[in-house]
Amino acid sequence: MSGEFAVGAPVSAARIAELSTALTGLRERITAACAAAGRSPDSVALLPVTKYFPASDVAALYGLGCRDFGESREQEATAKVAALALGHKDIRWHMIGRLQRNKVKSVAGWAYSVHSVDSDRLLTALDTAAAAALDTGRRAGPLRVLLQVSLDADPTRGGLASEELSGLADRVAESASLQLAGLMAVPPIDVEPDRAFAELAEIHDRLLRVHPAATELSAGMSSDLEAAIRHGSTCVRVGTALMGARPITSG
Ligand SMILES: *Cc1c(COP(=O)(O)O)cnc(C)c1O
Repeated sequence: MSGEFAVGAPVSAARIAELSTALTGLRERITAACAAAGRSPDSVALLPVTKYFPASDVAALYGLGCRDFGESREQEATAKVAALALGHKDIRWHMIGRLQRNKVKSVAGWAYSVHSVDSDRLLTALDTAAAAALDTGRRAGPLRVLLQVSLDADPTRGGLASEELSGLADRVAESASLQLAGLMAVPPIDVEPDRAFAELAEIHDRLLRVHPAATELSAGMSSDLEAAIRHGSTCVRVGTALMGARPITSG
């Protein structure tokens, strides 16, 4: 069932050492960025993004103290969740990638939060799926939702236009099965990260006036986490700088 993403052979000591070194380096980067921004280092969480890497790497990071993991492809994530179900009960899985409506039933069963909610139809499907998962005991608490904001005018790249945001935020807040955690964004490649994250911070400020509990700001990746932290990120999603280069890019 878990195929290539099963825990499989125990992870090598060399891989554990590699992950440990990368983790230490990343925590130093986050601490330095927080210091430069006059922020407390524990105001920013590190979310290791383990897509394309085996469950054994997740288990190794778990051994190094990580409890939150980001995944972007439903099938791959579901296999890893199954592979790690035993002995890793306190993992919190975050769905950070584009999500199709026919995958929400599965995701509602294992996700602690979904960072990539960017349409009314997806929201409706998630609401129904989370309610069903709560009813059947497949989940214990509401599904945390982060609305993904588009920072450019291109809707094909995913994300909500800022004028769509408040309506969707209100809908999440009204749902008994969902919890409005905050916002997420991926800056467009051709925009300077500082400019993109400054815009995101403004959008987040406006949201907080209406939804003061929506404090989460999921922003920043391997290459731009310092800029994101300067602009209020509370969660940096880091793949490459922790795991190494992905075997396949994109996704
Ligand atoms: C893959 C991915 C990341 C991690 O990107 P890196 O540049 O490898 O750190 C972050 N966010 C999302 C939405 C992703 O899909």
